[in-house]
Amino acid sequence: DGNEAARAKILPGTGRGTATRSGVVEGALAPDPATGPLHQPSAGPPPRPGEDLHIADPLTLDLTGFEAVVVSPGVPINRHPIAGHAKRYGMPLIGDIELFAQARAELPPHKVVGITGTNGKSTTTALVTHILKTAGVPALMGGNIGLPILAQDPLPEGGVYVLELSSYQIDLTYTLDCDVAVLLNITPDHLDRYESFDAYVASKEKLFQIQSVEHHAVISGDDQPTARIAALQGVYRAKGRWHLAHGDTITDQTRWPSLQGPHNAQNVAAAVAVCKALGLSAEQIEHGLSTYPGLPHRMERVAERGGVLFVNDSKATNPTSTAPALAAFPKVRWILGGLAKTDDLDACAPHFGHVRSAYTIGEAGAMFARLLEPHMPVAECGVLDEAVRRAANDAEPGDTVLLSPACASFDQFKDYEARGEAFRAAVGALS
Ligand code: ADP
Repeated sequence: DGNEAARAKILPGTGRGTATRSGVVEGALAPDPATGPLHQPSAGPPPRPGEDLHIADPLTLDLTGFEAVVVSPGVPINRHPIAGHAKRYGMPLIGDIELFAQARAELPPHKVVGITGTNGKSTTTALVTHILKTAGVPALMGGNIGLPILAQDPLPEGGVYVLELSSYQIDLTYTLDCDVAVLLNITPDHLDRYESFDAYVASKEKLFQIQSVEHHAVISGDDQPTARIAALQGVYRAKGRWHLAHGDTITDQTRWPSLQGPHNAQNVAAAVAVCKALGLSAEQIEHGLSTYPGLPHRMERVAERGGVLFVNDSKATNPTSTAPALAAFPKVRWILGGLAKTDDLDACAPHFGHVRSAYTIGEAGAMFARLLEPHMPVAECGVLDEAVRRAANDAEPGDTVLLSPACASFDQFKDYEARGEAFRAAVGALS
């Protein structure tokens, strides 16, 4: 995000600019030999505009003499005029991951794992990081999760940087040679930023095209676009179900409490393949899987009251992500809505039988209510607090009150995390 990008002190020997959501921050960032290639958060507060940063309309800047324009992945470069402006100066648009890639030569010897896909990126990234750390390997996660990679301290020799990569980040990356690159799945999402579904697929495929041939690729064969990429790349693929490398298959997920559900079998299989490629033993991997604590806002159990379970799945921002949550619980009081990314709930439809009643919120509330009414009782609640109150009131022992919105949050919340926290607070406030 722009605010974080603006904090990065970037690389030694550069005077380049960094971008924020609102415009280019022209960097008068003097090289600081003490800081090293990665920004040290402990080195002091981020520079503020007027001190050593200048904020300006990017389109008014003379870019002569600069090497690149660094933009936040949140900037829609397919339609933002900064793209044309940079092109006129023959200048590449890059992101913080590309800056990291260019700084790698100055870091102690290390490995990089890059993880992409429409869904499951954060889970797989956190899981791989956890398995590595519990096995005693220095590891950190960055990219589209947690702290920006340039805001973290470099790892010691032998460390592994595990990067969650959105397709927007890959679009701004040109030289990241992942030691292990992972593609989990591809389903329609974010199509507002791409000309077509094929363009979105191509963006994910690029991660493998910029990788050295001797490095590892872990690609799902579960959906048509990923299977095609796997075939093109000539790497290991699986049909129908996830096979672990070397012929193992996942038969029993019950040993891993925070990795339930068929979607997590895919995440586990990918994580296992990554860790095997990095040389971990089966015992080390099993230990990591069984101690993985899970991520907040992903099917997170926040409370149980009077036999009713309250689950925060605020991270599910599209119907495909919501479907596994509906599948995981047999009697659901479903809270959904927000800023819709699709005008249907087809991906969720196979699990409507699990839903006892639905409670809609936000901009998509009325549309989703109309879609669901033929299938289940629906209450249009407008806001989350009201939806939690009504769902809790209707719930009977054995039911699950599930926030799994199938929508972005920005109509009513700062982000999905704020929405999840609001859910937690609303559950806490129930009498
Ligand atoms: P991402 O970082 O790609 O958005 P997350 O790991 O945060 O993915 O998971 C977001 C939601 O997507 C989860 O709450 C879950 O419902 C769903 N999900 C997770 N893994 C998968 C998967 N492999 N396939 C399909 N859906 C998944």
